[in-house]
Amino acid sequence: MKRIIIDQEKCDGCKNCTVACMQAHRATPGTVYDLDLLDPKNEARHTIVANGKGGYFPIFCRHCSVPDCVGACMSGALCKDPVSGHVQYDESRCGTCFMCVMSCPYGNVKPDKVTHKRILKCDFCKDDTEGPNCVRVCPKKAIHVEEVSA
Ligand code: SF4
Ligand code: SF4
Ligand code: SF4
Repeated sequence: MKRIIIDQEKCDGCKNCTVACMQAHRATPGTVYDLDLLDPKNEARHTIVANGKGGYFPIFCRHCSVPDCVGACMSGALCKDPVSGHVQYDESRCGTCFMCVMSCPYGNVKPDKVTHKRILKCDFCKDDTEGPNCVRVCPKKAIHVEEVSA
């Protein structure tokens, strides 16, 4: 399966990846130039945080081999896709218990701030034939896609 690999030392916190993720999942169509960065409907699926040493730490879903979020989901809304190996979310099955939010050891599942009824997580840009938007725009090559065992 493919996974986003992080090289923390290379990240300068520019958040190009965050804007690209917001653009890929924005609520309404448009170009990046009219993307409202403050609208919670356009929230990104990953986080870039300061590491306290003058650098930054990109936090992306690992699409874990044994995903705690999937194990915690009682309604089957989160599943590890047997073909791609990616952990995907089916909103129609979600019971809004937020057990997945509490279970991810990396904080990669967020409650949706708009509906308060669903969650947001990385979908590996599954509908984009060119792959993860975030990876394509990183000017420092701090994130890249690598083939790993599932
Ligand atoms: S949301 Fe968290 S637990 Fe689930 S696959 Fe991603 S990193 Fe793993
Ligand atoms: S792979 Fe797609 S959904 Fe996941 S963090 Fe990157 S841009 Fe966002
Ligand atoms: S685009 Fe690359 S360098 Fe910029 S914040 Fe994201 S991971 Fe870091």
